[in-house]
Amino acid sequence: MAPLRTYRRKRDFSKSPEPKGRSRSEQSTGKTHRRPLFVVQKHDASHLHYDFRLEIGGALKSWAVPKGPSTDPRQKRLAVETEDHPLDYARFEGVIPEGEYGAGTVMVWDIGRFRPVGKEDEDNDLEKAYERGLIEVELDGRKLRGGYALKKFSGRRKQWLLIKMRDDEADARRNPTSSEPKSALSDRTMHQIARDAED
Ligand code: MN
Repeated sequence: MAPLRTYRRKRDFSKSPEPKGRSRSEQSTGKTHRRPLFVVQKHDASHLHYDFRLEIGGALKSWAVPKGPSTDPRQKRLAVETEDHPLDYARFEGVIPEGEYGAGTVMVWDIGRFRPVGKEDEDNDLEKAYERGLIEVELDGRKLRGGYALKKFSGRRKQWLLIKMRDDEADARRNPTSSEPKSALSDRTMHQIARDAED
């Protein structure tokens, strides 16, 4: 199945400003050696949540995290797998109109590169890790840094846990979803993003 078929089926690109997107396999750029991308988008849809996305296999593998990522290793956060998103979705910030899939404001809350923990041949190993249901990465973002693990619940197809690994970046007191609420791309609040979309 084409990796972005579900993503495109859910959306009307004549109404939503979201990117239609191309996966890497649909692009003609060939293999690159840059580190893969991660993004965390704050999404004020019917329920506020954070979309955690990792570049794996030419698309953004995606999880909806209701409480958002934590910097405290004891705070295991539920992460519900959602459809793959195109790579250019990583820089999407704006408002999905009323009546469209995912209607509401989207902010790029954090963005950066990551590397698989202890792995060199990045993309192959990431796809295997995803299939296995245990992905361990080291994030290099503006707000989130250091090791994070995504662990699939055994027997539950779409439910994972997002867990901060114990390292120098672990911090039980930091709580960045509260203390650092602005966009990592534009320094705007959710309210400012919504207001700017009205102009
Ligand atoms: Mn979402």
